[in-house]
Amino acid sequence: MQKMIQLERPCKGVVSLAIPTPFQIGDVNVYLLEGKKLTLVDTGANTEESWGLLTQGIEAAGYRLSDLQQVVLTHFHEDHTGLAYRLKKETGATVLAHPDTAVWLKEEPWFIERRNRFFLELYKRAGVNEAYIQKIIGVYQYLRRFGHPCEVDVVLADGETLPSHPEWKVVYTPGHSQTHFSLYRDSDEVMLLADHLIAHVSSNALLEPTVQSEEGRVKSLIQYRQELQKLKQFPISVGLAGHGEPIHDHVDLIDRRFDSMERRAENILEVLKGKQKTAFEVAMQLFPNRQDQLPLILSETIGHLDWLEAEGRLARGVRDGIDRYSV
Ligand SMILES: [Zn+2]
Repeated sequence: MQKMIQLERPCKGVVSLAIPTPFQIGDVNVYLLEGKKLTLVDTGANTEESWGLLTQGIEAAGYRLSDLQQVVLTHFHEDHTGLAYRLKKETGATVLAHPDTAVWLKEEPWFIERRNRFFLELYKRAGVNEAYIQKIIGVYQYLRRFGHPCEVDVVLADGETLPSHPEWKVVYTPGHSQTHFSLYRDSDEVMLLADHLIAHVSSNALLEPTVQSEEGRVKSLIQYRQELQKLKQFPISVGLAGHGEPIHDHVDLIDRRFDSMERRAENILEVLKGKQKTAFEVAMQLFPNRQDQLPLILSETIGHLDWLEAEGRLARGVRDGIDRYSV
């Protein structure tokens, strides 16, 4: 049976469409911004079902697909960008994104090589064995099936206003992805948060290679915590997220996220009691039944280990090129 599009108008000039994804997270929310130009924020994954529902949604909102003039991508993940190429091809819309999203979506050989090297090094240091590294490569290949290379036309800087929508300001919000930004409208304090903060599930601070430099890696959980502290200072009447329901009390939600990070940290310290372990060993103990989501659980574990190390709550030593943690 053909699914029906879920359409809502959560605030002035914004239409929300829930598009199904093949991923465990479920639907992704994409947003039409009305104004001088009809603009879509995020796209859904590159599947026929998503395409069908997205085009149905644009029509249900009272537009034709050909009315679409801009596509804004909050970060490079496939559920947010997969249909950008097809939208651009069919409508001629301009694609706008973070400069690093432009590099991820271009998929040039130098960056693919950089990305692969980054993950190989990351997982080796984490003590992941060869068989599991192959499993992880399988996960990445699976994800890429729902994306498509796409040329970004306009890159957006932090603090800039969105072209043709001067009421919306770009706010860089790295952590979940180094390429992530949100959009903020001062007049009624609405924020399009994408995956920066989600009501029903904690957003992962995923480990990613940086585009600008090959040196080291960003400690993304520490960075994400700093960004959440900043977000608490924003007056937000409603936060419209990339997944799930609108957020009405972001300060309380952020405090709950900090509490669960602290609980996770305490679990890790417990696991490390009396025994030195690699990040992989810790991850396997914390998440014994989630081996199909290795990139997620390793980001979650390594992120918390980084944070605990920075706070002096554990020690890290290196042996045979592998990080080993102890308390
Ligand atoms: Zn994401």
